[in-house]
Amino acid sequence: MDIHRQRPSKVPETDARPARLEVTPRGLELDWDDGHKSVFPSRFLRLNCACAGCVQELTGRPLLDPAKVPQDIVIMEFMEVGNYGVQPLWSDGHHTGIFSHNRLRAICPCGEHPKIESETA
Ligand SMILES: [Zn+2]
Ligand SMILES: [Zn+2]
Repeated sequence: MDIHRQRPSKVPETDARPARLEVTPRGLELDWDDGHKSVFPSRFLRLNCACAGCVQELTGRPLLDPAKVPQDIVIMEFMEVGNYGVQPLWSDGHHTGIFSHNRLRAICPCGEHPKIESETA
């Protein structure tokens, strides 16, 4: 009912920063300096790429066809972008997506993150 709840791409703020970043056969492994551990499977991360080539900037419409992303795609290497985020190079040649730390934390697939609304101090 409340249209404001529909606000897109609300990213939970976090002060946590990566303490360790490593590409392993499982994907991109990230240990946060608050002790949390995230594992982002390569293909999962590729499908969540929000660069201008994968998502239309103005409308947010997805341009990436998941069927065209190889099942066995891997991250070849990655660049750390200042204190801001991570830019992976995937085995399909894609490399224009930058994942901010906030965004990585927001899409962490571990399933342990409470919704912000229900978070208790
Ligand atoms: Zn992209
Ligand atoms: Zn998590």
